[in-house]
Amino acid sequence: MSTTPIKEPTFRESVDLMYNRAVALMDLPPGLEEKIRVCNATYTVRFGVRLRGQIQTFVGYRSVHSEHMEPVKGGIRFATAVNQDEVEALAALMTYKCALVEAPFGGSKGGLCVDPRQYDDHEMEMITRRFAYELIKRDLINPSQNVPAPDMGTGEREMAWIADQFGRMNTTDINAKACVTGKPLNGGGIAGRVEATGRGVQYALREFFRSDEDKAAAGLTGSLDGKRIIVQGLGNVGYHAAKFLREEDGATITGIIERDGALFSETGLDVEAVRNWIVQNGGVKGFPDATYVADGGKVLEEDCDILVPAALEGVINLENADRIKTKLIIEAANGPVTAGADDILRAKGIVIIPDMYANAGGVTVSYFEWVKNLSHIRFGRMQRRQEEARHQLVVNELERLDAVLGDKWNLDPKFKEKFLPGADELELVRSGLDDTMRVAYQSMREVWHGRSDVTDLRTAAYIVAIDRVAKSYRAKGL
Ligand code: GLU
Repeated sequence: MSTTPIKEPTFRESVDLMYNRAVALMDLPPGLEEKIRVCNATYTVRFGVRLRGQIQTFVGYRSVHSEHMEPVKGGIRFATAVNQDEVEALAALMTYKCALVEAPFGGSKGGLCVDPRQYDDHEMEMITRRFAYELIKRDLINPSQNVPAPDMGTGEREMAWIADQFGRMNTTDINAKACVTGKPLNGGGIAGRVEATGRGVQYALREFFRSDEDKAAAGLTGSLDGKRIIVQGLGNVGYHAAKFLREEDGATITGIIERDGALFSETGLDVEAVRNWIVQNGGVKGFPDATYVADGGKVLEEDCDILVPAALEGVINLENADRIKTKLIIEAANGPVTAGADDILRAKGIVIIPDMYANAGGVTVSYFEWVKNLSHIRFGRMQRRQEEARHQLVVNELERLDAVLGDKWNLDPKFKEKFLPGADELELVRSGLDDTMRVAYQSMREVWHGRSDVTDLRTAAYIVAIDRVAKSYRAKGL
């Protein structure tokens, strides 16, 4: 082991380095390059909450990276390691992510330094509401200006508290529910938001695997079926991605890395069983039918086809990048590969599907939720039965044909079952997400293969995103 720690840039510097790499290949008007790169504003709040008989002070942030479109969008993270640099890096990634998937938002991110496991439900509610209050009164949570969502350490529960807090402070705002996304279904949420980021990872991989040329760039062939996948982090994103890839695409999850170590199995891990084990035992240790590796980070370096970092930023860095053996990395987390590691991996020929695209499923479905809240109607409510009635007409005709043709031709009962129902909200959300992921992939791919000076998907993604942000600034007259 080396004794001198390797100096890495900070997360925000790392994002800037990747940005710089892309703008160097673009032809932006002087000054605009800088304008897009910088974070517009970061608000720091320190507030006290009376807990267990004494006042505890908390530090939180909401950073707005770019307001070329409003509202700005991005999650709120609850973790002890939250800091300004991190929140600003994540806000910048939100700008590029939204531009890439054509979600009409600017980029923002929030964070609160807190370990949610140290507090009970009631305490967390008081802390969350107080943080929300501080942001709401400064319009840093607002349906038309700034719309947060879940991120690490937050979920439907926190979003419901935030929405309720906003409603209490804006009693006459008919669009109050659109102040935050990722709410529970019965609190103004949308079907499919919880699974959305993981689902987006699956759709991204499917789209990648549709192209022989792209697979060849990573040294892969065939379909996702049987591909060996290692997942880091079995939180909301990692769990859903691994579950869908295993159950619906036939992939083999050979490794799962968690906080307390990793599980490894050449024949594949049952994601659902591992998840249940973690819920019951607080970690992966002791899970039967798999090899337990105490130094979980080492499993990142195991041989596999696809590596899915779905936990923290900076986990693939200058220290371990050289030892990474996978063929393809899909960044389900934000910023899992540092700028330096990115150079090393690229030189090794590893293909990286970048975070701003790979995990954009979350914000895409957040966009649908926001639209649903503003339109005050569930998706599919007007069309579903009408669609069914029209399908019934076709089925009636086919049944008539079936009767006439006798044994020569029979209507497949499975076809009828599948074809008849009109689309419900979940189906529409998945369809919208699938379309978004496919279209965005193609826009990156065009630049990746279409320009000789672009050799990787990340640079291509930045170029597409920056170009769109630049066009929007220009249209505004800036
Ligand atoms: N926190 C998620 C992200 O990093 C979702 C953001 C959103 O839905 O606004 O993309």
